[in-house]
Amino acid sequence: MGSELSTKRKRRQQRGNVETNEAPEQSRIVPKKEASGADRNGESFEDSGQEKCYDPQDPTLTFVDGEDQLDFLCNDYKSLRAEMPCGHAVTPTSLTDWCRRLLDEGECVFVCGLPDCDAEWSFEVVCKMALLTPEEVEEFEKKIFSNAARSYLDVKVCPCCKSRVVRTDLSDLSVQCTACTADRNRPYIFCWQCLKEWKGPAPRSDRCENDDCQSPLEMLWTCSDIAFEDVEGVDGCPSIRACPTCGLLVEHNRSQCKNVICPRCKVEFCFLCLKTTEECQELNPNSYYTVCSTGVAPRQNSIPVWQRL
Ligand SMILES: [Zn+2]
Ligand SMILES: [Zn+2]
Ligand SMILES: [Zn+2]
Ligand SMILES: [Zn+2]
Ligand SMILES: [Zn+2]
Repeated sequence: MGSELSTKRKRRQQRGNVETNEAPEQSRIVPKKEASGADRNGESFEDSGQEKCYDPQDPTLTFVDGEDQLDFLCNDYKSLRAEMPCGHAVTPTSLTDWCRRLLDEGECVFVCGLPDCDAEWSFEVVCKMALLTPEEVEEFEKKIFSNAARSYLDVKVCPCCKSRVVRTDLSDLSVQCTACTADRNRPYIFCWQCLKEWKGPAPRSDRCENDDCQSPLEMLWTCSDIAFEDVEGVDGCPSIRACPTCGLLVEHNRSQCKNVICPRCKVEFCFLCLKTTEECQELNPNSYYTVCSTGVAPRQNSIPVWQRL
């Protein structure tokens, strides 16, 4: 919530800057070889260097006339404009610029840059509409992943005032909210795990003394074994696992294959051996419904920490 608001604010500032930049930017992209009688369209595409252009024959795009609405820096891109799912018109390069800016600001979701448009675009839509090159796809994926890691690991909403609080010491669950502390004139400390006011001695890395503050390790140790419906011959596999990539506790719904996709980091892993599906399948081809050759990994005794790239 908080992050979205701050992005909107930045967007408005950007719109404000548009006027001042216009003149110099525009003069930069005037085609140079006009006098030689060369094909104008061809030349202008070449001159703009980095610009990506839509294929006018692409039947899956909706082309529109008018301004490139995401061209906040007034680069005056030449490509045909196409409509995003929210109806706003973009060129592939203006869309790339905008999305890269969001990522550089720490966002991990793509939102339309127009004031009063709340549209959120999937990464698939951005890849397609921004004509992302394989290098850009890789760059964007890395940034999405590390931004997501950062915001899940280090930012939570204060249970009292709802402001965003950043945690700097990842080994301490007791976190002070500066806003509430200033407000009350005494330290307000809440628990990063159960999101209630902190109870008991601090610092602690496993839990606070609130009754329902259960440490994830405790859950991994005490949960019952899972009875798979469709995977054969499994014995002694716990029903809760910590995602090997990000550490989120994940349950398997017992049906279908042994793999699960982590709802937080989106990495698919094998619930039995705790390797990524890719690694598990490489070692055990087509073993979706059978036990891995390395067997069932024992109950985990530490929670993997999501590595920021
Ligand atoms: Zn929009
Ligand atoms: Zn607070
Ligand atoms: Zn707690
Ligand atoms: Zn995960
Ligand atoms: Zn496996």
